[in-house]
Amino acid sequence: MPDVITRFAPSPTGHLHIGGARTALFCWAFARAEAKRRGGDARSTFLLRVEDTDQARSSEQAVAGILEDLAWLNIHWDEGPRIGGTGFQPVPGAQPPTAIGGDARRVGPFFQAQRLAIYNQYIDWMLGHDLAYPAFDTAEQLDAQRKAAADRKHTYRYKRDASYDRDAALARLRAGEPCVIRFNNPDAPVHVADAVLGDITFEPEHIDDFVLRKADGFPTYHFAVVIDDELMGVTHILRGQEHLNNTPRHVALQRALRRTDTDQPFRTPVYAHLPLIFNPDGSKMSKRDKDKAARDAAKKAADTAALATVVAPDASPEQLATWLDDKRSQLPTNALVRLAAHLSLDLPEIEVEDFRASGYLPEVLCNYLALLGWNPGNDLEKFDLAFLATTFDLDRIGKTNSKFDRDKLRAFNADALRAMTPEAFAARWREWAGHYEPRLASIPDGTLPIAARAAAPRASTFRDAVAQIAFAFTADDALAFDPGAVQKVLRKGEPTGLETLRDLAPSIGAIPANAAFTPEAIDAAIKSFAESRSLGMGKVAQPLRVALTGTSVSPGLGDVAAILGRDRTLARIERCLAAHS
Ligand code: GLU
Repeated sequence: MPDVITRFAPSPTGHLHIGGARTALFCWAFARAEAKRRGGDARSTFLLRVEDTDQARSSEQAVAGILEDLAWLNIHWDEGPRIGGTGFQPVPGAQPPTAIGGDARRVGPFFQAQRLAIYNQYIDWMLGHDLAYPAFDTAEQLDAQRKAAADRKHTYRYKRDASYDRDAALARLRAGEPCVIRFNNPDAPVHVADAVLGDITFEPEHIDDFVLRKADGFPTYHFAVVIDDELMGVTHILRGQEHLNNTPRHVALQRALRRTDTDQPFRTPVYAHLPLIFNPDGSKMSKRDKDKAARDAAKKAADTAALATVVAPDASPEQLATWLDDKRSQLPTNALVRLAAHLSLDLPEIEVEDFRASGYLPEVLCNYLALLGWNPGNDLEKFDLAFLATTFDLDRIGKTNSKFDRDKLRAFNADALRAMTPEAFAARWREWAGHYEPRLASIPDGTLPIAARAAAPRASTFRDAVAQIAFAFTADDALAFDPGAVQKVLRKGEPTGLETLRDLAPSIGAIPANAAFTPEAIDAAIKSFAESRSLGMGKVAQPLRVALTGTSVSPGLGDVAAILGRDRTLARIERCLAAHS
């Protein structure tokens, strides 16, 4: 049975967008499931190719981030840049996972910038067969042609005209004159048989003599992608519908090209264009959503002068002013992050890195992403990668746009967190915090499962879980008491909450330190004190809660006190008594 070979081909111009992660997931899952369906000796290869031909916009940092995000999602590529090995520099502070990638079939390198000799070989072949030609137009000439077409209300299409002198042009090319190389497009309709959208015919006017090699010597995306998909043996191309209009160009090139090694014609892979992912309001899910959320909050902030100080290291006051006024302008990411922290605002997650930082589980994110444009054909909504790797198919990819429902994702994540044992929650929370929340290091290993159990009922993400135990991160002598809670809980009643707290303190102090200071022992002490005084549990628990957390809302008190430990618990009770007597 023939092998199934898919590829994910990100351009490393920024972080991995959630839509890119969905594409990678579908490519991975399809290769696995389709090879299983074919049976026999069909193998599956999911390869990763870095499309870094736009040298000005590509960066090594972006490559590293994309590879790490994919590795974190457990979308592992069989062939492609090796991570965990040499030649890969992880982002500082990140842990390189075990080695992923390689070049088993010797079809690399997997960075397009390292494949220029291959592209040039095909350019030469095309020039030799008059399938491509050098063009020397200046930017001004092209602008004038565009304008002339617009004046005549024609769609602009670059075509080589009858007066073109091929020999003279090739001589100029050989003499080293700067030029681009264009496709001598045969002007035929192109049929695309899309596995999701069906058969689509693109009329000749859809494609012009587009550029194959830019003046800087780098191939265009259209050219490199066609060469690489053929040489890497890609059998199925799954990618977002935003690429649909590129596909006739690619198919036209495949028809024109033959392999320079075997003289075989290029093959046309199966195409499957995936539905786009939108916000629930129908807008595009983009990094600008973060700017919008921050701008809306910033406009409501009382003190705009303070905002300038907040963003100062990353954006000037003028930049900030422009950004506040102009909906289309964007602030540098670091400035946005500072602003959000200052305004206590959670920025909407757009890139995989955002979801990581918020504390979503990779398996939940993959599960949710799979539902954006695909469904297993029944009501099943919760499944894992192993399920996708056996059942994913092209037939059940939808045609219509998907809506990114963050509430649903949060609910999925909350369910997954709640389904974990406190120990498992603690271990993964710790791992996450190693990257994103240094304060969690202050909670000892033995106590973290208690904190996990306490936080889980009200946490949809690891970041929410941190907020649930935020009381533990304040120094005991810096804990602020909510005036409303003090008034209502400590000052009122007969006896007052403060008096009850004073009487309760020795019972808590009587519990020995260390292993004995458990949630159960603490709860038991509170309960027996309440019974001995014939007081309702609330009357006893609330004053203690205010003393330990400064507020009247928190996880269970036994858990709260155990998270703090005996010394801090007693110190907080004492301080509360002293502060309010
Ligand atoms: N480098 C392209 C992108 O990031 C890939 C397009 C394709 O899959 O062909 O959008």
